[in-house]
Amino acid sequence: MKPTIPPESSSPLRIEKPPPREEPSLHGEILGRLRDYLVEGNIPDGNRIPERQLCDMLGISRTPLREALKVLASEGLVDLLPNRGARVRHLSEQDLGELFDIMGGLEGLAGRLACENITDQEIAEIERLHYEMYGFYLHRDMHNYFNVNQLIHQKIVDASRNMTLRETYANFAGRIRRVRYSANFARKRERWGEAMREHETILEALRRRSGAELSDILFRHLRNKRLAAVEHLNETGEPPSASAPAHPRGN
Ligand SMILES: [Zn+2]
Repeated sequence: MKPTIPPESSSPLRIEKPPPREEPSLHGEILGRLRDYLVEGNIPDGNRIPERQLCDMLGISRTPLREALKVLASEGLVDLLPNRGARVRHLSEQDLGELFDIMGGLEGLAGRLACENITDQEIAEIERLHYEMYGFYLHRDMHNYFNVNQLIHQKIVDASRNMTLRETYANFAGRIRRVRYSANFARKRERWGEAMREHETILEALRRRSGAELSDILFRHLRNKRLAAVEHLNETGEPPSASAPAHPRGN
């Protein structure tokens, strides 16, 4: 089997066999589990990915792990290192501020366009997800809460019917997904309750198809997340300098 891309160096990364095609769902499942694992902060910011440990945890060999890491690198969650390893991407306070503001702008625009284009059926689906999310909130199930939450945001972006916006959103969403998750832990659980209340107003504005209002709410929602994310960064995650041990995280 010939590699289609000639290796630039003698790095063996490029001449490994191509990603397996026969089991796309398995690949997707590994990718999803690995993404969740990283998003949920199990490996501190800037730390190296413990490949052997993750292979054991996921019950896979190195090749599929590396394939998954490549995808996560393209999503901005990890950085691949020249010597084949990878590390969790570190975002500074400045990076966070910039990324959250861009997301606020994109989501605000999405909200405005969604109100022009969304169908009754799509609103009903978001409403259903909203109450499902509320159930997870009441049970303090952060994992499922977060996944449904992200789905709601995604559905609003989809309803904008703007493919360019969707692609741009996907690019930035991947880069701050991790921080977005951890921001819910800031100031104990206050932010979580606040976010839930904001989602009530998101749903109401959507029901009324009030584009300007929804746009404002979504921008502020991301602003508040930005504050919480920065606060959380300052509470726990100093940049991983020599002195910073892996900090324990409550779930
Ligand atoms: Zn939200």
